[in-house]
Amino acid sequence: MKGLAFYGIRDLRYEDVADPKIEKPDDVIIKVKAAGICGSDYARYKKLGPYIPGTVWGHEFAGEVVAVGEDAQGHYVGERVAACPSIVCGKCHYCQIADFAKCENLYAIGSLENGGFAEYAKMPAQNLVHLPDNVSYEEGSLIEPSTVALHALFKTSIKMGDEIAVVGCGTIGEMLIHWAKLFGVKVYAFDIVDDKLREAKELGADVVINTKDVEPSEALHEYTRGVDIAFESAGNPITAGQVLTLPRKGGEVVYVGLPYGDVHMPRNYFEKITRNELHVIGAFGVTSAPFPGKEWTTAADALARGAVNIKSVISHRAKLSEGPGILEDIMEHPAGYRKVILFPEWDNEQKEG
Ligand SMILES: [Zn+2]
Ligand SMILES: [Zn+2]
Repeated sequence: MKGLAFYGIRDLRYEDVADPKIEKPDDVIIKVKAAGICGSDYARYKKLGPYIPGTVWGHEFAGEVVAVGEDAQGHYVGERVAACPSIVCGKCHYCQIADFAKCENLYAIGSLENGGFAEYAKMPAQNLVHLPDNVSYEEGSLIEPSTVALHALFKTSIKMGDEIAVVGCGTIGEMLIHWAKLFGVKVYAFDIVDDKLREAKELGADVVINTKDVEPSEALHEYTRGVDIAFESAGNPITAGQVLTLPRKGGEVVYVGLPYGDVHMPRNYFEKITRNELHVIGAFGVTSAPFPGKEWTTAADALARGAVNIKSVISHRAKLSEGPGILEDIMEHPAGYRKVILFPEWDNEQKEG
């Protein structure tokens, strides 16, 4: 079969790769119908992370089940599914207490093991989530980035009437804004790029603030004394400090982005944790119990009910074979891209979305 295999910095190849085979009794083979490019893929494309040369990339995908192992409970050939990419060991302390996001041996497919940028993919049965008939495959491929946002939201005390700040309006920020609106909150979105803020507004942000030339907290204080919850979703060393200045006293700060660089911050930012008695929360991963967790069931159900319109985060749809060229172009023109979905099988429907 064809797939996108990763060989090193800026070296992703569309080539023949080995067909996945049922090896364990709970293995399931999926014909991939749609697979999203993740922000973490851009970072690894240019700077590397753990990988084995020749591994098929991609961890955000949905497709149709074409073969099931004898112990693939509940799944069947022809079923439409989305895949949770987190592989957990089931044996460590955290797995024993069903806190799967903290598994000591956690990894995602698409780095050390073949992923979803291919015609077919193999997953353990427990990682598959049923896709209701009225949820398209491309929406199914957006469930994984949605679960990043839901996992973070579920860690907070968010409730109707709250005010929240989302700092950084890339894909994770957009997903946070979109899913936070389901909780009935007022959203302040921060970024330094006007286009990103316009998109944030379309997704439901109530107030958008460009912080290129202003201190985020000063701009925010024109509206409120501070938000109940502030999310850092830029993965940026500067905003990692600024976000601490946005909550009201006693509020919450959630770090969702991973800064690709050392974090140094002015002492008056850091002091906010102590002086304002902030609750600082880290959110990592996409799972909870029962595995893969309510992040997945909530997202699939909300999509089926039409409660969210996450397709609006897609900026490009392309053939799988075009993946390497698109990643190169993203390196040159990052602002021109939001979510990109790749299709191993292409017809005009995909072009339209
Ligand atoms: Zn991702
Ligand atoms: Zn474990």
